[in-house]
Amino acid sequence: MYQIAVVLQVFAILFCLLCLLVLVEQRDSKYEKLMMVIISCSLLQNVGYLFELLAKDAGQALYAVKIEYFGSSFLIPLMVLFVFRYSKINYNRFLFWLMMSFGCLAMFGVWFCEYTTFYYTKFEFIADDVFPHVVLGKGTYYIIYSVIIYIEMILCAIVTFMKYAKTVEPRMKKNYFLLFLSSVVPMSGHIIGISGVLGPYDIAPFGVACGVSIFGVAIFSRHIFDITEYAHESILMNLDDAIVIVDEAYGFQECNNKAVELFPFLGQLELGAAIPDSKFNRLFQKNQPKEITIDHSNYDVHITPVMRNKTLAGYSVVLFDVTQKKQQYEKLRQLKEQADSANEAKSTFLANVSHEIRTPINGILGINEVILRDYDEPQLKEYSMTIHKSATTLLNLINDLLDFSKIEAGKMEIFPEEYEVEQFFQDLQDVYSVRANKNNLEFVMKVDSGMPNHLIGDASRLRQIAGNLLSNAIKYTSSGTVTLRAGFEKNSDKKGNFIISVEDTGIGIRKEDMKKLCEGFVRLDETRTKSIEGTGLGLNITKQLLNLMGGEMKVYSEYGYGSVFTVIIPQEIVDDEVVSSLGDQDRFLRIKTADFTCPDAKVLFVDDSKTNLLVAISLLKGTKVQITTAVSGHECIEIVQKERFDAIFLDHRMPMMDGVETLHEMEKIDHLCKNTPIIALTANAVNDARNYYLKEGFDDFIAKPITEESISKMLRKHLPMELVIDN
Ligand code: ADP
Repeated sequence: MYQIAVVLQVFAILFCLLCLLVLVEQRDSKYEKLMMVIISCSLLQNVGYLFELLAKDAGQALYAVKIEYFGSSFLIPLMVLFVFRYSKINYNRFLFWLMMSFGCLAMFGVWFCEYTTFYYTKFEFIADDVFPHVVLGKGTYYIIYSVIIYIEMILCAIVTFMKYAKTVEPRMKKNYFLLFLSSVVPMSGHIIGISGVLGPYDIAPFGVACGVSIFGVAIFSRHIFDITEYAHESILMNLDDAIVIVDEAYGFQECNNKAVELFPFLGQLELGAAIPDSKFNRLFQKNQPKEITIDHSNYDVHITPVMRNKTLAGYSVVLFDVTQKKQQYEKLRQLKEQADSANEAKSTFLANVSHEIRTPINGILGINEVILRDYDEPQLKEYSMTIHKSATTLLNLINDLLDFSKIEAGKMEIFPEEYEVEQFFQDLQDVYSVRANKNNLEFVMKVDSGMPNHLIGDASRLRQIAGNLLSNAIKYTSSGTVTLRAGFEKNSDKKGNFIISVEDTGIGIRKEDMKKLCEGFVRLDETRTKSIEGTGLGLNITKQLLNLMGGEMKVYSEYGYGSVFTVIIPQEIVDDEVVSSLGDQDRFLRIKTADFTCPDAKVLFVDDSKTNLLVAISLLKGTKVQITTAVSGHECIEIVQKERFDAIFLDHRMPMMDGVETLHEMEKIDHLCKNTPIIALTANAVNDARNYYLKEGFDDFIAKPITEESISKMLRKHLPMELVIDN
């Protein structure tokens, strides 16, 4: 029996050492440190008891018992602490220290048993050959302390069993079961020891060693303090964002290092204590701030309820440090503001400059047109043609640049309005059949007979798109035909897609160039297109306009044989009327220019540029119309009060009082031209101009440079029928 007892004690010591070794191998965590202290206490207790077993006399035995109590006195309170912490149950610090004090008192009782009898009333050593052992007289405190120890052990067993019963998650459930076992085993050791079944052998220290070893084995084989738990803890603690956890009554539970840095009082708080800071508590109020500032840093506040078994257990407060993000955002905002204002300045500059450039170009084109018409000298005609070509190219370039910068600045707008499809094609026919013929190309137009005649869309932008495709087709085709096809695909009674396709027999586009087709300022196949005028902006603008209208463009091309550009644009249908005489090119050509005279008609031209007035007079000479001129809005107002006119052409941009202001002034006063059509004249030939002028109250709009064709057409359109005499 004696030998068995000694061997058991040696095993108990080995168990403890093994457990310590296992724990040293584990990563640091607050549970693990506590466990190490517990096992060390058990080790001391067992070493002490082994010495007691090996003692030869009462003196040696007493020393051994003193060592034993050095470990055992604190073992059970620490066990209670571990169980509470691991079970995440609030424990009262006072109670813990009280338990520790009971242990201390017991230890002092043993250490000074020679001088006091409150723990041991007697201490005898029986040097029995079979089982040398100590015989003790139990003092008052011995009995009290034993009861306390039992209460503590029962508490551990109850808590761990309840946690085991409540926990659903299998891994944690098993852990609680092991913890339960490691509290029950020492208790059983104590009971067996007291019962005296094993004679003089006290099995309690061995029981404790077994209890802690069970947990040690669990640590080793089941990784109770595994990496994830450690990781969670260390991530939480060292996060750059502050985290505070409070219970459902806003009592303090846990916080990380950053939270203590921001609210130092958190470091002093006891578990469950109320948080004594108004700034912090404000976070839980109804209109809680979404963001708070602490020491010039900004934090986003996120409060999340923590639910346990569907009931509110508390809240987690996370303060995300957004200082850097805010600074970066502010910087970006400033940069954007700067870029926007630079862009705006660029657009304004471009708009102003292009207007200023357009005015003299219009003058050049107008006077040049007069020269072309009035002089027959071949050399002069040739020079004049060159001037016309160059000035037109310059004007187109300026218009393209203005559109491009407008799109870039996001200022391009689409103005849908009702328009007549026949008129739309007639305008295209008028311009591009002449251009095609000039280049010795055949111009064919085929419009689907079923297509609606009245649509809603931005007709001027559509005209620009079709115009770009047609002028490209003419430019990049040296011989053959340019064909304009159009049709309409209905989606419903009121909506559908307007399909316009332009086919040419020109140079075509290489497959590898297709991707670059719509890039701004990019021209393809430079060796072949070098001699053809262009900027590489037309298709880019076309594509962007289509995007704004919700349309798309498809391109098919065979290098060396020609190309087909097709655009599909959603439009609304106004009524059931369809385009009637389709493909009948005569109809589209029915209005011929300057094929009439109107000697009795009186027209007022208002423009601050004398050159422009001269151009207008010269271009309308053939119609024999009576022209009066005015060089300012004020003069115009004076004249209309004295004289009646059949049409008024009013320039927009004039110093002092511009065309729009003049019109509004005329609306206010009494004059003789109340029913006279007023047509806006403008060099600001951007494509939404038409809508603008109609909205302002003009009857029509004519873009500079005015040509004989455009001005006489406008005149014919607005003069009373009885004043027009067909030639
Ligand atoms: P631009 O004609 O002013 O150069 P665009 O943007 O209208 O600019 O066209 C870009 C390029 O696409 C042109 O330079 C030309 O190389 C090519 N391209 C456009 N249309 C055609 C066409 N119908 N046939 C052949 N190449 C074309």
